[in-house]
Amino acid sequence: MTFDLTPEQDQLRDAVRALGRRYGHSYFVEKARAGEHTTELWAEAGRLGYLGVNIPTEYGGGGGGITELAIVCEELAAAGCPLLLLVVSPAIAATVLSRHGTEEQRKRHLPGLADGSQKIVFAITEPEAGSNFHRLGTVARRDGDGWLLNGRKCYISGVDEAGHVLVVARTEDSSTGKLKPALFLVPTDAAGLTRSKLDMEIVSPENQFLLYLDDVRVPADALLGESLDAGLPALFAGLNPERITVAAMGAGTGRYAIERASEYTATRKVWGGRSIGSHQGVSHPLAHAAVQVELARLMIQKAGTLYDAGRDLEAGVAGNMAKYAAGEAAALAVDTAVQVLGGAGMTTEYGVATLLGAVRAGRIAPVSREMILNFVAQHVLGQDKSY
Ligand SMILES: Cc1cc2nc3c(=O)[nH]c(=O)nc-3n(C[C@H](O)[C@H](O)[C@H](O)COP(=O)(O)OP(=O)(O)OC[C@H]3O[C@@H](n4cnc5c(N)ncnc54)[C@H](O)[C@@H]3O)c2cc1C
Repeated sequence: MTFDLTPEQDQLRDAVRALGRRYGHSYFVEKARAGEHTTELWAEAGRLGYLGVNIPTEYGGGGGGITELAIVCEELAAAGCPLLLLVVSPAIAATVLSRHGTEEQRKRHLPGLADGSQKIVFAITEPEAGSNFHRLGTVARRDGDGWLLNGRKCYISGVDEAGHVLVVARTEDSSTGKLKPALFLVPTDAAGLTRSKLDMEIVSPENQFLLYLDDVRVPADALLGESLDAGLPALFAGLNPERITVAAMGAGTGRYAIERASEYTATRKVWGGRSIGSHQGVSHPLAHAAVQVELARLMIQKAGTLYDAGRDLEAGVAGNMAKYAAGEAAALAVDTAVQVLGGAGMTTEYGVATLLGAVRAGRIAPVSREMILNFVAQHVLGQDKSY
């Protein structure tokens, strides 16, 4: 067992940290408030190879694993730039394409994802189905040599920044007559695909959308993979990378908040010559949050290591636990940071309250804490399903 990163991973961590710090949280907030995207940061991260660290080298990537991508997610978040689209485009879409796309799809999409010139977002959530993906109502029907898609999706992140949406739909299996899931690469400018932006209480340059698919016609090669059989494994292939990288983003955000708060409490004096951080009522909550964040980081490291070793089932348990732990730790860290900063905690200038919405959402999305507890109860503790 080792807790050390490889020299290459250490270098990656230092380099991404330096990049994140050059932009910082004020850049992130300014972009969000102006309704703009973090285009410069994304482009630079792409140019430096950070967006493609987990993409195979033959498609322009760095040939690393989810451990490397988690480092990128954590360090940018630790610099105050938690970019959700890292979870969607390089983690979910690139993994699904690398593992289950056709050779033609890999060649067409992966180089652009690797250098950051292309983004592919992911649409599974629907208004009616919610957490229960077995109830998905978006349907793909064969139409000549292509497909016709109809349905509704909600909370889909980054559609306005992406060239394609990876849409999860149901198709009819001609051999059994049963509906089975399939993934489709739908261009965001496809006829019949419309969107409306959701107003979210999150300070973020990345937006969520309602998506309407009304007779969206896509060619046969929009179906991800060689056949309909690729659908379910492709869907599951995206889950572990999603959980591990979103957990890393949470851990990075927690670190960022604790660092801001510690700097403040170490120097702020209101009673005589003592810093407020010398009062245990102030320092213990911060120390407690730091312990929770560090525990989550350990679980993220374990999940990444298992995933990169091809141990998908064990990575599933560890990844879910990491996501749960990091989601809770990030929310605790940001809330504690706001509290110990007092009034300054609620100002934009000190840059912690701006993260309240994002960390709160991190306990709901991309998978809620309750659904993770259901997973652990069933798969680790052997309990029956209640639903
Ligand atoms: C900021 C943000 C970005 C997002 N980006 C994307 C995206 O890019 N693509 C995408 O497809 N989706 C995205 N989502 C959607 C997200 O994945 C869902 O919101 C999440 O999976 C929960 O689904 P729901 O909102 O339908 O909640 P519901 O399923 O309606 O659940 C509501 C509440 O009930 C609980 N609950 C439901 N069923 C059970 C049960 N059986 N046992 C215990 N508790 C239960 C849930 O945990 C939750 O707390 C995003 C959401 C947010 C907030």
